[in-house]
Amino acid sequence: MDYLINKFNKIAKNILVKLTFNPEIVTNFDPSKIAKTTRVKTNKIHENIIFDEKGNILTSLSILMVFSFILTAILVLNVAIDYNNISSDSIDSNNFNYLIQDYQRNIPIITKETIDEISDKAIKTHVPCVNSKLDIQKSVNEKLKEVNKKYQTTQGLAIESEVLSVTNSDDPFHVNIKTALHVKKGNLEYEQVIDQKIAIENLKDPLPFLMCKNHPTLIENNTKINYKDSLKYYFIQNNLENPESYENASSPLIIKRCPYDPYIHHGDNFTLKNCIDNGYYHESADGSCYLCRLEGKGGCLHYGLETFIVPNKVNNLNLRSISSSDHVIFADHYPGDALTFYISENLYEIIFLDSSHRAKYGL
Ligand SMILES: [Zn+2]
Ligand SMILES: [Zn+2]
Repeated sequence: MDYLINKFNKIAKNILVKLTFNPEIVTNFDPSKIAKTTRVKTNKIHENIIFDEKGNILTSLSILMVFSFILTAILVLNVAIDYNNISSDSIDSNNFNYLIQDYQRNIPIITKETIDEISDKAIKTHVPCVNSKLDIQKSVNEKLKEVNKKYQTTQGLAIESEVLSVTNSDDPFHVNIKTALHVKKGNLEYEQVIDQKIAIENLKDPLPFLMCKNHPTLIENNTKINYKDSLKYYFIQNNLENPESYENASSPLIIKRCPYDPYIHHGDNFTLKNCIDNGYYHESADGSCYLCRLEGKGGCLHYGLETFIVPNKVNNLNLRSISSSDHVIFADHYPGDALTFYISENLYEIIFLDSSHRAKYGL
């Protein structure tokens, strides 16, 4: 294409030169003769145009026609090339945007995997994170470096990424991650700081394993935790009322959002029974947020989560112990009276609940 255009440009240039600077025309044109007769002058010029120095017969009309044809051809070719360039540019740019979107979609997935690994480690070792936000940030940055290398080799994309912060979200079932991104491929470039939310639902709750670290007999079966005598030990250590009531108690392992919202409906029919059997978590101003749970904090100032730690079934209702909300057991330590939520074969399924939690859940 370029070759053709150059060729056409050359021919056009030659003709233009001939038309404007033909030495025959210029040298034979004598201004002093203008006044004499127009007829003589016209004939002279006409003669010079029809017969050039090489003896070729050219009329001004045919020159003009050839010239306009070439001009049209050049224009058409230019338009065609521009169109090709534009469409290939737009394919490149669409592909570039698609790759960036794809990369961005991966960040929450990688972050969730990272939080899951950090949580697993805390559960297995009973050692809390010193700074969960920093641990997540560092680990995600390391993983993104590897991902960036892959994009470089497979897609030719030069990606620089930096997780700037991991923070609490307004909604305690999410955490926020802020990442600075710079992507370059050829003459295409993208630079942005992106904010994303990571759902913490379906992650394991590390808090019980960290709170019972001094006597870690608790076990889990992929959905629930059985405390065995670990919570009894914790009660004795913290000098709390009625340690035996929480022997073999259980609580959820996996973070799941309670669908019975507004919570005040937990008093309706078997709602509390369903909530407890499914191991749901609730929003709570006093409950520990997920990031603080990783640090082994039973309560925190962030807007957090609350679940019930359910004592073993009993046959005697005249009982009192620490209120069964997990932040009360692991941080606030105030008492509650037994509340029956199910009876079978003369055994009562109970939780201990203080008046403010009874009001919150409509019990
Ligand atoms: Zn619930
Ligand atoms: Zn917190």
